Amino acid sequence: MSYPRIEVDLGKIRRNTQTLIERLGLRGIGVTGVTKAICGHPAIAQAMLDGGAAGLADARIRNVQRLRAAGMTGPITLIRTPMLSQVDQVVQSCEASYNTEPLIISALAAAAIRRGSVHGIVLMVEMGDQRDGILPENLADVAQLVMQVPGVALKGIGANFACLNGGAPTAIQMAALSALSNRIEGDCGPFLSIVSGGNSANLPWALGKHSTGRINDIRLGEAILLGVEPVSGDQIDGMHTDAFTLVVEVIETDARPKPFPIALIDPTAERLCIVTTGGASTRMILAIGRQDTDILGLSMPVGCTLIGATSDHLVIGTPVTPPTLGSEVRFQMNYNALMHGMAAPDIKVKLLGGPPTRPSGHAQGKVERLALG
Ligand SMILES: *Cc1c(COP(=O)(O)O)cnc(C)c1O
Repeated sequence: MSYPRIEVDLGKIRRNTQTLIERLGLRGIGVTGVTKAICGHPAIAQAMLDGGAAGLADARIRNVQRLRAAGMTGPITLIRTPMLSQVDQVVQSCEASYNTEPLIISALAAAAIRRGSVHGIVLMVEMGDQRDGILPENLADVAQLVMQVPGVALKGIGANFACLNGGAPTAIQMAALSALSNRIEGDCGPFLSIVSGGNSANLPWALGKHSTGRINDIRLGEAILLGVEPVSGDQIDGMHTDAFTLVVEVIETDARPKPFPIALIDPTAERLCIVTTGGASTRMILAIGRQDTDILGLSMPVGCTLIGATSDHLVIGTPVTPPTLGSEVRFQMNYNALMHGMAAPDIKVKLLGGPPTRPSGHAQGKVERLALG
């Protein structure tokens, strides 16, 4: 068995996706599965599709290329504004991309024409997150540009919330996004097929009581993967929070009492050194470190305390006899820990839970064509 590894229960990813799709479907909202936290891992993406996700999205072209290399043929959207230096790769592997910059839209159009294709454009509107986005008053002008330039087609508009700037959106902001989509259609003519209302942080609104208006898509990563609502960190009712487990090997145990009490408690310090005053009587050292994951995003096994971590070691206190050398310790991860862990070259991914129990309704990315692992 290889350590450290992340075990992924594909059945739980499928069921989480299904659960959200059923609930959001009642509200007229479809789900785009976001694969950036899992670096575009094809089998996990496939589990999202098998659960009913309408399409996939990622922020990085390398992840999209990984999905394509594994045989996924369904729609994939780039949800970070493309780099000018990557427009050719973007039009090659993505049906559509989120955009805010006229210059980049023009470059995408030129790249699509070179390929003899048409690239879809979703315009990202700034609604308060202060990350990427076109100001609402400038949206019609940019939409006109997309309409006029051959090689690109206006697919819709979208907004992002609670990424750079804290809070989840209000019903008023969401009504404003709906009104904006009606106005753009009035001004520019085309039917906007996508009005994408944000990420997992927007689930409380999407599943709430307010009208969903024109919003017909939501982009979900964290909620599907971890079963939690990001702003509160709370479990979403009926969802699995343990689809991912980090499994690590014990490389040292130490039954001696600590030689002196250590007072420094600064979990954010560069050299993490958290010390508890009581409880743990023994220490164990595990072969994983800050180079592999966000140590503070690991939930400690019951009764254990985090003592500290360096680039390559994780030191944990345990009130009971520590496990023997070579045995394993299991952790749940938060989003940060998962994102870093999935990208770490020394952490293997082990898939559990096999192919779906019901036939997939999706023609794209058939399981048997995927390079699993
Ligand atoms: C990361 C991202 C998402 C998905 O966010 P989650 O919190 O994982 O649901 C959606 N949209 C954009 C633009 C993103 O960058």
